[in-house]
Amino acid sequence: MANLFDLNHRVAVVTGGNGGIGLGIAEALATHGCAVSIWGRNAEKNAAAAAQLSKLGGKVQTLVCDVASRDETARATDATLKEFGRIDGCFANAGIGGGGRTAFADRTEDDWRRMFSINLDGVFHAFQPVVRHMIARAGQGDAFGRLVATSSMASLFGTARNEHYAGSKAAINSLIQALAVEHARYGVTANAILPGWIDTEMTEGLQANDKFMANAVPRIPMRRFGKPQDFAGIAVYLMSGASAYHTADTIVIDGGYSVF
Ligand code: NAP
Repeated sequence: MANLFDLNHRVAVVTGGNGGIGLGIAEALATHGCAVSIWGRNAEKNAAAAAQLSKLGGKVQTLVCDVASRDETARATDATLKEFGRIDGCFANAGIGGGGRTAFADRTEDDWRRMFSINLDGVFHAFQPVVRHMIARAGQGDAFGRLVATSSMASLFGTARNEHYAGSKAAINSLIQALAVEHARYGVTANAILPGWIDTEMTEGLQANDKFMANAVPRIPMRRFGKPQDFAGIAVYLMSGASAYHTADTIVIDGGYSVF
């Protein structure tokens, strides 16, 4: 049981792992011995994240990759396999926020397409080449895989002026269930993490809005926004052998917000 959460010899991809929740996930995995490949668009953020993870003594690779591009995630998968020889888990975490300011009646086609191209297509693009590798490995007697997507509580709530974001995240929940059923035979689990209000770059604007904070924080039983480090436990658990029989779930990490 002592080794239940040991991730030595495991390799994980974390899209959007150069900041916010993704960096919290990457740090936790590296701390437990996992090699991590971070895929993000911003080379400077990638370099800063690599420096931070290197201090933990973990093996880390960063790749400039826009998950909206199928070609770029295919290339990033190849580069990760070249560096580490295998991929055991893929955390499809990269995403953009919806802004919450534009009425549905005024939503532009471009705005709508951009949201889905990153938040939903990005998950498809990250998972597909990785799944092909996992299926091939299972065929060689090494059946193990973890697919984890970062969804949102917005997939469950009515989120005014954010319907494009909510729709992209709700689609992830269904996608995860389908992937879980289809790939169980390969030893591959699929789960979604649903964060509540989390202190990251994405929510900087909200956190600077005193009226919003005065309304929102008292509705969180923990009386605070979550931090990227609050995703350490769930990331290590989902990546580890401890979660072998846990699949097709939508796991809420929100300080109790959704039931209060
Ligand atoms: P964040 O700090 O803004 O991080 C977003 C990450 O996604 C960054 O690493 C960014 O890297 C990456 N990214 C964005 N677009 C990308 C693209 N096209 N290709 C590759 N990487 C891309 O925000 P966060 O709060 O940590 O968000 C992480 C996930 O949690 C998102 O899916 C978000 O929807 C979800 N979430 C957040 C909250 C919250 O309250 N913060 C709540 C619920 C769900 P680059 O800038 O280098 O591209």
